Amino acid sequence: MYELNDKVKNLKPYDPICGAYKIRLDANESFLALPEEIRSEIFQRMDKSSWNRYPDPTATGVCRAFAEYYGVPQECVAAGNGSDELILILLSSFLKSGEKLLTISPDFSMYNFYGFIAEAENLNLAKPDTMKIDPQEVIQTIREKNARVVIFSNPCNPTGQGLTRQEVRKIITSVDALVILDEAYMDFWSESMIGEASQYDNLIILRTCSKAFGMAAIRLGFAVANKRLIDVIRAVKSPYNVNTFTQIAGETVLSYKDLLRKGTQQIIESIKDLSKEIAAIAQEFPGTFTPYPTCTNFVFLHCEKAEQIFQSLLSRGIAVRLFRFADRGNFLRITAGSPQENAALCTALREILKEG
Ligand SMILES: *Cc1c(COP(=O)(O)O)cnc(C)c1O
Repeated sequence: MYELNDKVKNLKPYDPICGAYKIRLDANESFLALPEEIRSEIFQRMDKSSWNRYPDPTATGVCRAFAEYYGVPQECVAAGNGSDELILILLSSFLKSGEKLLTISPDFSMYNFYGFIAEAENLNLAKPDTMKIDPQEVIQTIREKNARVVIFSNPCNPTGQGLTRQEVRKIITSVDALVILDEAYMDFWSESMIGEASQYDNLIILRTCSKAFGMAAIRLGFAVANKRLIDVIRAVKSPYNVNTFTQIAGETVLSYKDLLRKGTQQIIESIKDLSKEIAAIAQEFPGTFTPYPTCTNFVFLHCEKAEQIFQSLLSRGIAVRLFRFADRGNFLRITAGSPQENAALCTALREILKEG
C-alpha cells in the first residue's frame, strides 16, 4: 500500500466561505465591477490570441503595463499566478530545507503554510496587543536566530496595521536575511517601498491585482525587486505560470491608469465611511467590540462574541471573516463594500447587537 508522507498526510484543502451569500465582505475583494467596454476589449483581444500556443513565459506585456503604472523599471518585475503562487515560489527557492523563516503573527496564513511545504523551520514572533510590528524586535530576532527569510504583509492582513517606509527600511538595511514585503493592500495606503525596491539586494515586494484592481478572478500578482532577484524568480518559476488570458486581461486593465486610480479612491472612500460607522456602533454598544484603525480596505475588530455575530450575519446573507486565535481571542475582519453593502452590514450589526 502506498503510504502518504508525514508532510502531506494531514493537510486539509483551503476552505473559504462558499455559499451563495448576498453580500460578500469576507475576502477583501473589490466591490467594483470592470466597465463593460473594457470587458469587451479584453474579450476581443482574447478572441484574436492563439489558443493553441503556450503563453509568453516572461509575461512581457503585462509586466510592462504594471511597471508603467507604478513607475518602476520593467526588468525589476516578474508576474505570478496570483501573488499566492509567488509566495510559494519564493519560500521554496530562497529557503533550503531546515533554514529559518520568520513570520510575525497574526499575519496572512499562507506564509506559514508555504513555509511548511518548503520544509523551512518556522520562527514566529507575536505582535503586541496594538497589533503593530516592532521593527527593532524583528531585527533582533532575525540576528539572534539567524533567520534566512522574513515575510510579512504591509499593511497587514488581517490586522490592518502598517509600518512606515522608514521602519521598513530600517529592517531591510539592518539584516542579511531576505525581506519579502507583501504589499497586497498598499494601493490603499502611502508607504510603499516599490519605488526603491531595486536599490536593495535583499528585498522582494509582492503586489496583487486581486484587491484594489478588482481582478481576483484572473489570478495575477507581481514581484518587484532588483534584477538579480527577479532573474532567480524567472529561473525557478514554472515557465508558463501566467496564462495568456490573464496576461491579456491584466495588460488591458493596467493600461487604464485613471480608472484604476479612481477605483482605488472609491474603495478608500468606502473604508473611511465603514470605519466611521463601525466606530459609531462600537460606541452605541460599549464593551461589545473594539475596532483597530486601518490602512487597508477592511476593518479588524476584537470581539469576544465574534463567532455568534459571524453566524448571525451569515444567516442574514452577509459573509465576513472570523478569526479565532487560541492566544488572543476572537476577531472579525470586514471588507469595505459598496455604500449599500456597508449600510446593510451596519444595520444587521446593530440588530444583532441589540438582540444581545
Ligand atoms: C489577498 C492577499 C494575497 C493574495 O493575492 P493573490 O494575488 O490573489 O494571490 C497575498 N497577500 C495578502 C496579504 C493578501 O491579503
